[in-house]
Amino acid sequence: MSPAGLNQPLTLALSKGRIFDETLPLLEEAGIKVLESPETSRKLILPTNNPDLRLIIVRATDVPTYVQYGAAHIGIAGKDVLYEHMEQHPGGLYQPVDLNIARCRLCVAVAEGFDYHSAVKQGSRLRIATKYTRAAREHFASKGVYVDLIKLYGSMELAPLVGLADAIVDLVSSGGTLRANKLVEVEDITPISSRLIVNQAAMKNRGAQLQPLIDAFSRASVDE
Ligand code: ATP
Ligand code: MG
Repeated sequence: MSPAGLNQPLTLALSKGRIFDETLPLLEEAGIKVLESPETSRKLILPTNNPDLRLIIVRATDVPTYVQYGAAHIGIAGKDVLYEHMEQHPGGLYQPVDLNIARCRLCVAVAEGFDYHSAVKQGSRLRIATKYTRAAREHFASKGVYVDLIKLYGSMELAPLVGLADAIVDLVSSGGTLRANKLVEVEDITPISSRLIVNQAAMKNRGAQLQPLIDAFSRASVDE
């Protein structure tokens, strides 16, 4: 029997922080209340007022993995995370609904005073620090810019300030973190929001249970 067998409640995987916070109102519109907060509880499995639905709290980058292996039937993940995940692990996931939550954009940023556009024009080779190596590689390849990618897992803003990289590829929403670190955005790559993802086998085996939840998310999703 798989860990998410038929007798188990439906399991929704999501990360705490902005995705959890912006998912709560969507769940409420579907009549689902989460009975504990991941910020105050140390529990990683959170019950809801619906005995047939529970939440699991995992790292944002781990959400597609839990859903792909069927340990969660359904999940919520940023397009940034999904795009990187799909490079190594294509298939196994449906992406039925763009929830339009946790919106931001993927962009290129540099330290104030670094003339990015001239460096690109001159054909300089650039060092780029990022968590998003697939998106960054494809972006610069499409522009014909040669880059050396340096994979980081956080605090990307630091890299140009201490000489680790010429530029970063990172998510920006208000731009406050960039400004606080004297960085400037020089190129927009793509808009980002979070999507509902569903395990394909679960869709076959438990579609009757999953479809109403997917429909409820779809109705509740934020309009453009
Ligand atoms: P961790 O903080 O655990 O290292 P993380 O930084 O990937 O992981 P979050 O910062 O909570 O986790 O980001 C989760 C998701 O929220 C991202 O994958 C992205 O889709 C979205 N997100 C990230 N930064 C922003 C932002 N500035 N504005 C809006 N949404 C964002
Ligand atoms: Mg973070």
